Amino acid sequence: MTARLPASMQVFERGWLSANNVLFIGEETALVDSGYVTHAPQTLALVRHALGGRALDRLVNTHLHSDHCGGNAALQAAYGCHTAIPAAEAGKVAAWDEDALSYRATGQQCPRFGFDAVLAPGDALELGGLRWQVLGAPGHDPHALLLFCAEEGVLIAGDALWENGFGVIFPELAGEPGFEETRATLDLIGTLDARVVVPGHGRVFGDVPGALARAYSRLVYLSGDPRRNAENAVKVLVKFLLLERQRIALADLPVLLASIPVVASALRMIGRVDGEPVHPTGYAHTRRVDRAAKDGSAVHAFNERPPVENDQYDALATWATNALVRASAARIDGPWLLDN
Ligand SMILES: [Zn+2]
Repeated sequence: MTARLPASMQVFERGWLSANNVLFIGEETALVDSGYVTHAPQTLALVRHALGGRALDRLVNTHLHSDHCGGNAALQAAYGCHTAIPAAEAGKVAAWDEDALSYRATGQQCPRFGFDAVLAPGDALELGGLRWQVLGAPGHDPHALLLFCAEEGVLIAGDALWENGFGVIFPELAGEPGFEETRATLDLIGTLDARVVVPGHGRVFGDVPGALARAYSRLVYLSGDPRRNAENAVKVLVKFLLLERQRIALADLPVLLASIPVVASALRMIGRVDGEPVHPTGYAHTRRVDRAAKDGSAVHAFNERPPVENDQYDALATWATNALVRASAARIDGPWLLDN
């Protein structure tokens, strides 16, 4: 099925370090999502070339992960564009709280940017002479938004739906719900008459029922054992680091992983790597909870989060390296792990 886009809309398919950008040229010009910071000069060049001398009037973000808004600051500096972000993130962006935003937790970078307006589910906006509904898409990110143009049947899905899957369900790593939200978001997408999806990563596609079926089956797999979601998160984070740096010394990887809070959360959840008990404190902790359950103090015991011991990062680094090499997503050359 050919996926056709309205004439006022073009998609820059970027890859996995930078999310796709959607450019609208109408009475006003607008861009949805701006890529990762290390690609910001390329983002600026793509936008400038496509605009052919016009200015970028507006910038909109589907959500504020670093690969979707890392070019915001550069675009704002170049164009002074009016910027709209998800309403739930406004306070964090205004205060530039890198802990509450995801940058510190994931070990990723994002230069500080400002905003002029917020978007919330139920809002509508005009982009490229078309009317777009704003819908909530929690799951991958609790505050993510979808943009849907009913007239053209086009859905800008961010990381809520890709042709093969969706983004890592980050909330579950922090012990917050995400699987049910992901399901509800897929259900919502299923109720839209979307004929073309512009995903946050990968090519534009038209087989929406097929993509939804694959996404549901992936969700069943991940939610069947939350450790799978945690393992996937570690692989994705290491791949992201590789895309960003191009090469990482194998000897440095454990320390690098230990510096990323989301990896520590994932490791606590994984509790073992490939069947090996690399997480002895985790097992001890589980037993302690079992014992505590009998004397009624289970909640207290569960809330103490044991520190992850350093040698566990060695095992995790080895496991993640092997997993990426097996998946042809990385290769080893001497002392280096290289992007493939
Ligand atoms: Zn994302």
